[in-house]
Amino acid sequence: MHCNPSFLRPFALKIILAPWDLETFAQGFEKLLFSLFDKTGQTSEKTRTMETKIFDVDGLALQLEQVLTAVNTRTDLEGLRRDWLSKDGAVKSLFKQLKDVPPEAKPKVAATVNGIKERVENFIREKEEFFAATDRAESVSKEFFDLSLPAEYDGLGGIHPVTIIERKIAAILRPFGFSVVHGPEIETEYYCFDALNIPPHHPARDMQDTFYTTTGHVLRTHTTSVQSRVLEKGELPVKVASFGRAYRNETEDPSHQAMFHQFELIWIEKGLTLSHLMGLISHILKEIYGKRRKVRFVPKFYPYTEPSIGPQIDCAICTGGGCSACGGSGWVTIAGAGMVHRNVLQEFKYDPAKVSGFAFGLGTSRLASQFCNIPTLKAVYENDLRVYKGE
Ligand SMILES: [Zn+2]
Repeated sequence: MHCNPSFLRPFALKIILAPWDLETFAQGFEKLLFSLFDKTGQTSEKTRTMETKIFDVDGLALQLEQVLTAVNTRTDLEGLRRDWLSKDGAVKSLFKQLKDVPPEAKPKVAATVNGIKERVENFIREKEEFFAATDRAESVSKEFFDLSLPAEYDGLGGIHPVTIIERKIAAILRPFGFSVVHGPEIETEYYCFDALNIPPHHPARDMQDTFYTTTGHVLRTHTTSVQSRVLEKGELPVKVASFGRAYRNETEDPSHQAMFHQFELIWIEKGLTLSHLMGLISHILKEIYGKRRKVRFVPKFYPYTEPSIGPQIDCAICTGGGCSACGGSGWVTIAGAGMVHRNVLQEFKYDPAKVSGFAFGLGTSRLASQFCNIPTLKAVYENDLRVYKGE
């Protein structure tokens, strides 16, 4: 039942009572009570300040019980708190008047006023707990889950094709003892070019190929820049792999992107030869593409390796017979590699007479498109779930 909160305002007195006289008041208590309220039993807003008088505190306590029974809602409870416990409330007013109570009556009156205060406080606390429990019960009943129903599967998400390829390559390299390192994508020209034997006049540094920032930095054009940072430490052996984004200022088409992913490894140790490199590449490519694929090497040019080689595998479409996808040769170049150039070794204080090393890198974006049947390089980055799912 909704209770009119104004009814709860207790004993807002407008009348000025005669000087303190318990007996007089006791006789006229009923009359007084009646006068506290207007004809509808409600107090008016004007009488909000509680000037409750100490006349018959026992009667007041009884009256309080009636008030409490009418508290059914949070609004009622707030009204009760305001009218009885606020600084303008009845309890404060009663305490103020204690000083005027005759000494012989004071202990009893004070005890009763304290009792009233505690009663209201306890009532409010219990009621609040009750309301909270009711709310909880209601919310639990609304949020009911039938655990016996079958789950609604709406997709857990998946791993991006590029990440799948990166993890696959990392797993192939792990038994060889390669560790994976990362480097910054915004790089200095030194780490990206100079340290790697790419002089200022080299076409790779041309404004058309490289994104320059206003601070003179570059967006790394290859993950080889990470090699520079690793070699700088001067440790031996160097045996690291790096995965990440590279950027080139290229016109985008189905097979070229201004941003793409690369993988690169470098191994520097005493006694490493081109045979080691070719053996490792064959192993990696056969692990990726399958043991039956053929691998061959053709000469290439890269400024930071000498000699440089381009590993090729037989074309999967024509199986070596020649088709438009492989340009009729039956072979597809899928990576770049070579022995680390002596200029690069010397740049980082390695003695080319004592140590040698090799580097190998490939485009993981291209690999991802091949392995996940993604039609174009561009589609690898378009986040079209239908493409990723192969629909
Ligand atoms: Zn072919």
